[in-house]
Amino acid sequence: MSDTRSLIRSKVKQALASSSTTLDDRRAAEQGLLPLFDDLAYRYYLRDDGSVFIIDALEPEAGLQEMTDATWRLVVLRAAVAEESGLASLIPAHPPGTVECSECAGTGRRPVVAISGTRTTGVCLNCRGTGWIGVPKAAV
Ligand SMILES: [Zn+2]
Repeated sequence: MSDTRSLIRSKVKQALASSSTTLDDRRAAEQGLLPLFDDLAYRYYLRDDGSVFIIDALEPEAGLQEMTDATWRLVVLRAAVAEESGLASLIPAHPPGTVECSECAGTGRRPVVAISGTRTTGVCLNCRGTGWIGVPKAAV
């Protein structure tokens, strides 16, 4: 985990040093958050402890908000790991009561071809990007 923290901190410094970093990303990086990627709804950021933050495209004035939904946070982390394998230690083992998804071999990602023809990965629809199937047993 300390290697992962170092990797994130190093990438945050790179984002701060880059002239192509956007203003939103620069403000996040100044708070120690690594800019990850965006989708149609959110821009995602990663803190060195594995916490994920978002900026809502429909509510940008709300600023950075911590993502509290554990399942969705896992999906974002898996997408981040698909881009940067050095972040893999942020992914938890699949919880008791679930089995590894056979469609994506537990990665939560499947190969796809983008509209541009670029080969990339997308969310595995079989496990909805978590990498596992089933309902986790509640901790007792
Ligand atoms: Zn899957």
